[in-house]
Amino acid sequence: MNEHLKELIDKLNAEKTLSRSEWVELIDGHGDEERAYAASIANSLRKKRFGNKIFIRGIVEFSNYCKNDCYYCGIRRSNKNAQRYRLTEEEILECCDEGYETGYRTFVLQSGEDGAYPPARMAEIVRSIKSAHPDCAVTLSIGEQEREEYALLREAGADRYLLRHETASKELYEKLHPSFLSFEHRMKCLRDLKELGFQTGAGMMIGAPYQRTEHLAEDMLFLAEFQPQMVGMGPFLPHKDTDFRDKPKGSYELTLFLLALTRIMLPNVLLPATTALGTIRPDGREQGVLHGANVIMPNLSPTAVRKKYMLYDNKICTEDTTADCKFCLQARMKSIGCEVAVTRGDFGEFVDSGS
Ligand code: SAH
Repeated sequence: MNEHLKELIDKLNAEKTLSRSEWVELIDGHGDEERAYAASIANSLRKKRFGNKIFIRGIVEFSNYCKNDCYYCGIRRSNKNAQRYRLTEEEILECCDEGYETGYRTFVLQSGEDGAYPPARMAEIVRSIKSAHPDCAVTLSIGEQEREEYALLREAGADRYLLRHETASKELYEKLHPSFLSFEHRMKCLRDLKELGFQTGAGMMIGAPYQRTEHLAEDMLFLAEFQPQMVGMGPFLPHKDTDFRDKPKGSYELTLFLLALTRIMLPNVLLPATTALGTIRPDGREQGVLHGANVIMPNLSPTAVRKKYMLYDNKICTEDTTADCKFCLQARMKSIGCEVAVTRGDFGEFVDSGS
């Protein structure tokens, strides 16, 4: 192992951030040995807080209509091949009811940016879920809104909000999004969400087109400064109906390395081993956990619509039911000595304070 890089990983563990040039050196210079070293620290930090327990969140992908046009995304509005769908309130609630029976205590409502669900309607849906399942957390992942709208959703009882920053570089942001989307607005949304008391999730794709090490260094600096409660990061995967169809997918190993560095930098963070990681490698989610991830987010959407919520090609679990996913996941977690926890799994909820 390179002694200098090992020292940088130790420094990150001690000081919880690095300088821009140190991030670049570490990300550029690392190989398998440094990744294994970071994984060993990340994994023990995870175990110290969460024992062998993995938090699960059931995602309901309730609409794939989207007014945005992110160049990488399979449900962008200019993809005319996407078959659009929306679930009704009743269908969303049924997904949550089934999820509850299966052991989920957090429901994540995710969608494209669909004008058919204005904040007032979303607030009603949040209230219905909370009154049916008062012991559950509700996470929203419905994109950019104005502060008052986020406030309405928070008042309705939403606990958490996932809004990946996508990239902390304005220059890269503008290569991945059309000009009507603004880097500043996305960052403002994240600040508003945190100030309103949401447990807030930022994050980025690893290996997005045009992304260089300097951009990832910028992302890590942003995460160190913003201190999100959750971080979603997975590899970029191309979608056949986007202009990025021929762009190479993100690196699996680099994603694992950055997951480990994120756990070291933010030891308490809620860090999912994402579906994209499970798509790029059959045991990607297990490896994610072994690199410090402590959350898995399986699908609760009705099987009939799963294939339509295709952000990237070959997404896993689209033929499965809620029960299939839970069963499969339990077996996967067991294979690495972990166990799925039936709990909300809030930020700061430590399952095991042992060593
Ligand atoms: N409309 C919501 C939800 C977006 S989908 C929002 O704007 O926040 C959730 C995440 O999927 C995105 O934030 C993005 O990081 C990721 N994603 C989209 N397309 C992807 C692709 N081709 N490969 C990997 N991840 C992708």
